Amino acid sequence: MMANKLKKIAVLTSGGDAPGMNAAVRAVVRSAVYNNIECFGVYKGYEGLISDDLVKLNARGVNNIVNKGGTILKSARCLEFKTVEGRLKAKSTLDKYDIDSLVVIGGNGSLTGALLLEEEHGIKTIGIPGTIDNDLVGTRCSLGFDTALNTAVNAIDKIRDTASSHNRLFFIEVMGKGSGHIALNAGIGAGAEEVLIPEQDMGLDRLLDSLKKSEKSGKSSSIIVVSEGEKIGDNVFSFSSHIEKNLPHYEIRVSILGHIQRGGSPSSFDRVLASRMGVYAVDCLISNKSKVMVGIIDDNMVTIPIKDAIKGGQQLDKDLIRVCDIISI
Ligand code: ATP
Repeated sequence: MMANKLKKIAVLTSGGDAPGMNAAVRAVVRSAVYNNIECFGVYKGYEGLISDDLVKLNARGVNNIVNKGGTILKSARCLEFKTVEGRLKAKSTLDKYDIDSLVVIGGNGSLTGALLLEEEHGIKTIGIPGTIDNDLVGTRCSLGFDTALNTAVNAIDKIRDTASSHNRLFFIEVMGKGSGHIALNAGIGAGAEEVLIPEQDMGLDRLLDSLKKSEKSGKSSSIIVVSEGEKIGDNVFSFSSHIEKNLPHYEIRVSILGHIQRGGSPSSFDRVLASRMGVYAVDCLISNKSKVMVGIIDDNMVTIPIKDAIKGGQQLDKDLIRVCDIISI
């Protein structure tokens, strides 16, 4: 095998934790070791880079984590890294260990930080999309999305049991931070009557009409999945109180699924995806690729420049929206 020019790799997890991050860390470490490259784990995301909180990892150091939720490296939101001075400190820590390459597992903000570190200091960076929101461009899905979606569907199934026993109308808020991927997919998967997503402005009156129609067609209980997100304008409580005023005979309940969607053991899909992405991230560094995020398109590993991945607006599949409209009549 050709000797590679890489010195040492560091890996960190940053931003909101997502199931599958550990499996990705494990794959990066083992792939580095496999290729005879030293690998370090950085604790607490960019905070650990600034405060020099690193640990050398070998293949055995990442035993028994493929199945664990959260991140053994811990994550953090580090404001100092958003400053030029903070990134300079991070660079001097990396210099101290002679590390020239960094794999960042995280969302939009984390990858923005990675890009700046490379542009300002020449550290070779690769992004691995790790966010349940699935809002990065250039990959069909990010790590944690599949697990979060399954958790949401399981929770909605349970709520449906009580909704149908009491003829109740449930508004269920799922995570998404301005992106409707979890809501749309969970809505389809759990058979919701309506799905309210930031990408489509349903409008309160249309929602009301739709509920009246459902009632006429014989539905006595309903599940409405609402994506959290500032873009919707109203929150789940304002939706529910509007409906309560206009359809007073409905018994309405609101349920916010919240952080259960982030936790838990990653699905097998996320574990396999994380393993593929981790290995591919190291492959990219070895072949001298950087400033890119790895992704999955049509079941193939691909790269996309980080600058494009963080643009936002990962489109919802229009066909899914159509399917949702058709099957929820
Ligand atoms: P999630 O999608 O789960 O919220 P995220 O990666 O988008 O994940 P953020 O809190 O936006 O989460 O970012 C994580 C960290 O990345 C920040 O705490 C900060 O250290 C770094 N970061 C974010 N934005 C920037 C930026 N513009 N410049 C430099 N670093 C940034």
